[in-house]
Amino acid sequence: MAANISIAIHGGAGTILKSSMTPALQARYEHGLQQALDAGYAILEKGGSSVDAVAAAVVSLEDFELFNAGRGAVFNNVGKHEMDACIMRGDTMEAGAVCGVAGVKNPVLLARAVMERSGHVLLSGQGAEEFGRAQGLEYADEAYFYTQQRYDQWQQALKEDRVQLDHTDKKFGTVGAVALDRAGNLAAATSTGGMTNKKFGRVGDSPVPGAGTYANNNTCAISCTGHGELFLRAVVAHDISCLMEYKGLSLKEACDIVVHDKLVKIGGEGGLAAVDKAGNIEMPFNSEGMYRACKSGSGAPLVLIYK
Ligand code: ASP
Repeated sequence: MAANISIAIHGGAGTILKSSMTPALQARYEHGLQQALDAGYAILEKGGSSVDAVAAAVVSLEDFELFNAGRGAVFNNVGKHEMDACIMRGDTMEAGAVCGVAGVKNPVLLARAVMERSGHVLLSGQGAEEFGRAQGLEYADEAYFYTQQRYDQWQQALKEDRVQLDHTDKKFGTVGAVALDRAGNLAAATSTGGMTNKKFGRVGDSPVPGAGTYANNNTCAISCTGHGELFLRAVVAHDISCLMEYKGLSLKEACDIVVHDKLVKIGGEGGLAAVDKAGNIEMPFNSEGMYRACKSGSGAPLVLIYK
């Protein structure tokens, strides 16, 4: 029997203050989410694979400058953009990831090349960049990644000497997508610029399979956004999958325990997009808001920011 196709995406979670959101800005965010959702859903609808769908949705989010990934990635302490990404498929449980990479336009495509053509799972920095060039991926100069908003955030963070999670109003702007295709295969992908003003080659949860990104056909596909250090320690994505696999919990029950109890207890602010093998979608978050969107079967699309 054909599976019930589903896709869910996010553009980051955090304190998204209504007071600093104008109707015009909100419309731009919603447009960015809708565009990415459509890109992924169109592939699923034509019978395409969940891996292609999550890659297309994340490429769209990376190309959209308001989100902290690809083009809109934040500045690190020395004024550069160091990006992390991961992609994982639930059928073979193969994964590919990159961390601390600069210059590549779409880090999720580099992560996919790692998964499919490197024989490895996680490549870092210069080596990952070299591999991407050898694979013919597209690179851009610093100017492509420059956005005034991110520059101003970095200057502010530098002045106050703090490492900041993406926005003055504490938003986590990482992007991600999860999907179930008609063949019943799950996939997940996540991409991020990490934290504004980050130092020392800091890497968060996003590119780590099991922490920020995970897919397993027996359970679910997950893409996280939030305070990476806490998501790493809580091994969030894998924990949800384990609660389903070993305890028989539903996707919703597992997400509730991890996001609204375990993470809250250690101060881990954020959320995630999740889909299970039956096509059920959950997009829980313990922060004030999360940019998110989903579409399941022939149902209407949902595009949401606040609770
Ligand atoms: N989880 C990401 C990180 O810590 C940040 C985010 O979600 O915005 O790198």
